Amino acid sequence: MQEKPKVLIVGKVRERVAERLEGEVELVRCSAALEPGKLAPGIAEGIRGVAVSGSFDAAAIGCLPNLQIIANFGVGYDGVDVGAAAARGIVVTNTPDVLNDEVADTAIALLLNTVRRFPEAETWLREGRWERTGAFPLSKLSLRGRSVGIYGLGRIGLEIARRLEGFGVSISYHTRSRREEAPYVYHPTLIGMAEAVDTLIAIVPKTPETYKTIDAGVLVALGPNGVLINVGRGWTVDEEALAAALEAGTIAAAGLDVFQDEPHVPGALLAAPNTCLLPHVASASVATRDAMADLVADNLLTWFRTGRPLTPVPETPVGG
Ligand code: NDP
Repeated sequence: MQEKPKVLIVGKVRERVAERLEGEVELVRCSAALEPGKLAPGIAEGIRGVAVSGSFDAAAIGCLPNLQIIANFGVGYDGVDVGAAAARGIVVTNTPDVLNDEVADTAIALLLNTVRRFPEAETWLREGRWERTGAFPLSKLSLRGRSVGIYGLGRIGLEIARRLEGFGVSISYHTRSRREEAPYVYHPTLIGMAEAVDTLIAIVPKTPETYKTIDAGVLVALGPNGVLINVGRGWTVDEEALAAALEAGTIAAAGLDVFQDEPHVPGALLAAPNTCLLPHVASASVATRDAMADLVADNLLTWFRTGRPLTPVPETPVGG
């Protein structure tokens, strides 16, 4: 009988991944920080696949001499050193598309909550202030008449745009390359788009090029009626500049699902009255996380059965 391939589950990965792999592969587990010498002698050499949710750096990759595939739980694979993987001919896979709707729904919910302050209104009711004090104050901001610019019109950005169509707002976008088929106004620069809109929704990946691109200048361009929503990565926003802009009234409000140094949230953003903050929950429903887990498992299983993964990232080879 042929030996089952060994798959290493690194740190906490949704248990459904292991359940799906059970019986098909030999499972090995290790803590999130895989360092040389951490696995028992003889184990590292046998590992051919890895399932990970979070960080898997060059040192970790270096621990596994016969690694063939790294299956990342999440569409954003910035925690995996794809350069180190590609240099060794190791395939990296992610979980695109299965979370588009959930994340786009979250972006819209966060936008409405930020603009209309519904979480605060609910707190007002729960604290008995409606009964004691009276009606919750009118929200100064509204979605009516807004002009929304989407920074990143990829799989998720496009779903956000489609949902926004139903809200009767004007929609434009900024990406490096224009999407000819998209019926929205294209802006070749982020600053140009920020000048043209009053609402900015960020849904770009964490790459060297997107680092702190939403900076003081972009916030000034957005203007005093400006609203920033970020459901991509905290890395993209200069959080100090954002806190200062919120305090000074340079922009009106911000809704954030992601932060630079999670789970730490800067005190200035917590203290600001005009922020709506979520603990990175955009894809966090059971159904969507299960679909992501299935795609992680299916990438590994298909790789071992056919030598081709289902959803490789563009930077790594598609073996064959
Ligand atoms: P895609 O790769 O489909 O889309 C990325 C978009 O960003 C493309 O339109 C791309 O266009 C644009 N983009 C990339 N780099 C730049 C740049 N330097 N300047 C301008 N535009 C840029 O990714 P998804 O839509 O599937 O996911 C996007 C990101 O959202 C993920 O990488 C992840 O980090 C984040 N995410 C967050 C979640 C959460 O829980 N909050 C859940 C899921 C995803 P072009 O290449 O033409 O520039």
